[in-house]
Amino acid sequence: MQNPVMVCLDLEGVLVPEIWINVAVRTGIEDLKITTREMPDYDALMKRRLSILDAHKLTLTDIQEVIGTMNPLEGAPAFLNWLRERCQFIILSDTFYQFALPLMRQLDYPTLFCNQLEVDQANCITNYCLRLPDQKRQSVKALKALNFFVMAAGDAYNDTPMLGEAHVGLFFRPPDKIAKEFPQFPVTHTYEELQAHLVQKGGLRA
Ligand SMILES: [Mg+2]
Repeated sequence: MQNPVMVCLDLEGVLVPEIWINVAVRTGIEDLKITTREMPDYDALMKRRLSILDAHKLTLTDIQEVIGTMNPLEGAPAFLNWLRERCQFIILSDTFYQFALPLMRQLDYPTLFCNQLEVDQANCITNYCLRLPDQKRQSVKALKALNFFVMAAGDAYNDTPMLGEAHVGLFFRPPDKIAKEFPQFPVTHTYEELQAHLVQKGGLRA
């Protein structure tokens, strides 16, 4: 008998738009548009982002205001409702709890594993704290040890360790370059396609 299914989902690019790109657009700071899609070294990317915020004197509240105006990707809430009726799922993200809250509200507060920001008395972001290095892959590994059949979906470089560790790894709207680099992961473009893979490979009810 197959173990129960656990689906691990990336957040940005899969269920919600890229948070930093939206912050870049609203603030007019072009340099904030770079994401893990272009810069695979997450630590270098985050240090760069924090120094840009500092240079522009942007606080956590400024960023939260921008995030508060964002909505999930079209179809994402319906997709999660579909999933919720069929299996367990967890969102594994490199974002921060302080950023994610307004978006989680619109997704009915799914379980989210992510990271924390360190903020000073002036509400400026001074540092970030990864809860666990390589958490996406480590989470999948732990769920496998708990005897779940793990299927994962993501869109960027930072998801590929998770997709590789899962029993079934799927791309959702990845940039062409990344899809070509990792041809072992099937590419899906719509929630319907993603659902079809979950049904076919995980035995979920259609
Ligand atoms: Mg992503």
